[in-house]
Amino acid sequence: MSRLEQVPLDIRKGRISGSIAIFLGALNLLAVLCFHFPEYLTTPELRQVYNVEVMRFVLTGSMILAASLSAWALFRWGAKRIGFTGISLTLIAVWLGGANVEVGDFDQPIVSFGLDWLVLALLSNAAMFVFIERMWPHNKDQLTLRPQWRLDLVYFIFNHLMISVILIVTTYFSEELFGFAVHDGFQSMIRSQPVWLQFIEVMFAADLVQYWGHRLMHENRYLWNIHAVHHCPARMDWLSGSRIHFGEVLFTRSTVILPIYLLGFAENAVNGYVIWVGVQSLLIHSNTSIPFGPLRYLFSTPHFHHWHHAADAEAIDKNYAANLPVLDMLFGTYINNSGRWPKSYGVVGKPLPEGFLAQHLYPFIAPPKPVAEKQ
Ligand SMILES: [Zn+2]
Ligand SMILES: [Zn+2]
Repeated sequence: MSRLEQVPLDIRKGRISGSIAIFLGALNLLAVLCFHFPEYLTTPELRQVYNVEVMRFVLTGSMILAASLSAWALFRWGAKRIGFTGISLTLIAVWLGGANVEVGDFDQPIVSFGLDWLVLALLSNAAMFVFIERMWPHNKDQLTLRPQWRLDLVYFIFNHLMISVILIVTTYFSEELFGFAVHDGFQSMIRSQPVWLQFIEVMFAADLVQYWGHRLMHENRYLWNIHAVHHCPARMDWLSGSRIHFGEVLFTRSTVILPIYLLGFAENAVNGYVIWVGVQSLLIHSNTSIPFGPLRYLFSTPHFHHWHHAADAEAIDKNYAANLPVLDMLFGTYINNSGRWPKSYGVVGKPLPEGFLAQHLYPFIAPPKPVAEKQ
């Protein structure tokens, strides 16, 4: 455990402002690199969505904020190392051109890194969920920078940088392997429905496929060793949900996109679902006990999914659904435990190796576990 992890952040004010400054400073630097090398470091699908001028404005504001917080940490709290690091990152970003880097025409290679996707996701997700977890924590003693946060951050970074590989694989899977099953007349009929109805249908269709794919990974002893990576964190928070073996990322995304592709829903309905599931997948892992009231029977909540990650015997192989608990109710895998939270999380028995590479190699070297001992 590092020194920073051992020190409670809330009693080290300089470290809080300094840490935010370093976090922003690093993201600013990466954003400047995106302006310099858009062909290699940005995602074509995402570039169509955001406005570059707005991004320049956000970057300028973020650089001013990072510099101010660094100065605050340095001069108000005397946090020299952390303050100087924050200022240095901002100065390097300015030296590299800051928000004023010109972007000319360029050819798009087949594969690029999703650095723009990473920067935007990390900034917005961290801001939203660190706030939620500090305001309405479930485990009040758990720090934001708890043990193994670095490992989960590596997973978050990798799975975002690989966005174009994920899109290529999922598109190939649906269009090349299942393109023959597309029926234009049927798709027109689907698209003629109101968008709100299509949104519900997308959610149900995608969640149904996700439910059985997820359950298969729990019930098949070989696939379990891949999925065990997602279950190995002993602490739950918004970042821990990123710990997913890349093989599982490709498997889940490819299978979930299939019903959406075959049914041919309208773009607005699909985009709504993508945004919903992006927030929801982080929320259900986060360390928060926001009361959702009766909504907890309608949508999966942190309480619902924390029980899926529980090491308690009563919760093994329960609550598979990503969004709709009704699927678990229908297929006999629902556990409610209203008002009670799990005692512990993680895999039962021999722990998985630590480290991104070791965990990615784990399914190939670990013997398949007997079903009774798999969690
Ligand atoms: Zn699972
Ligand atoms: Zn999970």
